[in-house]
Amino acid sequence: AFDVLVVGGGPAGAAAAIYAARKGIRTGVAAERFGGQVLDTLAIENFISVKHTEGPQLATALEQHVREYEVDIMNLQRATALKPAGADGLVEIVLENGASLKSRTVVVSTGARWRQMNVPGEEQYRNKGVAYCPHCDGPLFKGKRVAVVGGGNSGVEAAIDLAGIVTHVTLLEFDDKLRADEVLQKKLRSLANVTIITSALTQEVLGDGQKVNGLVYQDRIGGDAHRVELEGIFVQIGLLPNTEWLKDSVALSPRGEVIIDDRGQTSIPGVFAAGDCTTVPYKQIIIAMGAGSTAALSAFDHLIRTSVP
Ligand code: FAD
Repeated sequence: AFDVLVVGGGPAGAAAAIYAARKGIRTGVAAERFGGQVLDTLAIENFISVKHTEGPQLATALEQHVREYEVDIMNLQRATALKPAGADGLVEIVLENGASLKSRTVVVSTGARWRQMNVPGEEQYRNKGVAYCPHCDGPLFKGKRVAVVGGGNSGVEAAIDLAGIVTHVTLLEFDDKLRADEVLQKKLRSLANVTIITSALTQEVLGDGQKVNGLVYQDRIGGDAHRVELEGIFVQIGLLPNTEWLKDSVALSPRGEVIIDDRGQTSIPGVFAAGDCTTVPYKQIIIAMGAGSTAALSAFDHLIRTSVP
């Protein structure tokens, strides 16, 4: 059995594994895809002290750093259930292949995924104008025109944020009204370079083969299609935590995020969590790494206070 078993191999999981292994305790990482969302990212310019890197490069560096330590990396392993510790004091992680891993503590760091529009062009122009994270990619569109798809809190926050950077923002909402908090809507409406379009069904992302140059939406009331000329599209229709496998065991928020306290403790003794799969505010690489470190240190603290049965 492990002392610390990390489930998930993104920035949070890599940080947790390194912090645990540096305590000289038996550490394992089981991950479906080591590197996580970083693998899907191109330019990264807000990883403090590194002015510019690319996702795949950072993912390789994460893995190399973890491999500096005695960590059992189990890649391509998908967890399907977590069973709280019984009399043996071991938490069990059931894998899709039927095997089980046991550990005195577990750090859950299974991350999240952005909900996609699933329209033609979205996949082709991902990272070539189609973006999901305004904190990450907003500055890349300085002086350009963008759309934000989604009129909930995250979409309206993104539109307000981007309006300060880009020349023009078109906010498209499917419903006949915005769903964001009133105070955010008021702020948005006060901005001169924002156009709000409701009852708009995004139908297609257009591009020149290299990058995005437009978007087509259908007016759900009139039925006609409209084209917006732009250089960027921020999709803000939801960030889904990868926690479906925990719904019968660990307390989750209404959005499905693992509820943690400021030490990364979940509702289950010996089970900690970190990164985008949790209730942590703001989902970013550097935040996930800090949270992974916190969770591993908390797991270590738990171990030294718990005797082996
Ligand atoms: P993730 O990176 O999501 O990693 C989750 C890990 O868990 C993966 O290894 C995954 O395979 C694994 N996993 C999931 N489910 C299971 C399961 N059931 N069993 C086993 N393993 C599982 N942030 C920035 O700070 N700067 C940026 O410039 C930036 N750009 C981004 C661009 C894009 C296109 C995207 C998608 C995200 C970007 N982000 C950026 C956000 C950043 O990538 C995330 O905040 C960060 O990766 C979260 O780390 P994490 O370890 O919590 O989760």
